[in-house]
Amino acid sequence: MSNIYKTKLEEEKKLLEDELASIGQVDKTGDWKATPEDETNIQEVQDEADMAERSEDFEERSSKLDPLEDRLNDVKKALEKIENNNYGDCEICKEKIEEDRLEVNPAAKTCKGCMEKII
Ligand SMILES: [Zn+2]
Repeated sequence: MSNIYKTKLEEEKKLLEDELASIGQVDKTGDWKATPEDETNIQEVQDEADMAERSEDFEERSSKLDPLEDRLNDVKKALEKIENNNYGDCEICKEKIEEDRLEVNPAAKTCKGCMEKII
């Protein structure tokens, strides 16, 4: 059964990485960071209003990047679990996660019951 989810997860990982690459770059530790303005643009900055606008762009990219990075980490963890043959186990109660939950979210870490407890 894991194969279907593996394909789904790999597809999602690719999409997330593409999206992250469009707003940021990965550093040496494997952490994603929003890309700052490139240097050619910084040299053109003339006044403070311009500066403020540029840092807003940067903040916007950072705020988009974080949830994508979290999601990517969940997807990667799920793929690791497939490798380790413990995919589909709830991290809290250790029971099997419901199939329909995995279909909606193949990177789910908990079963439905535990998901409700967390929220
Ligand atoms: Zn559970």
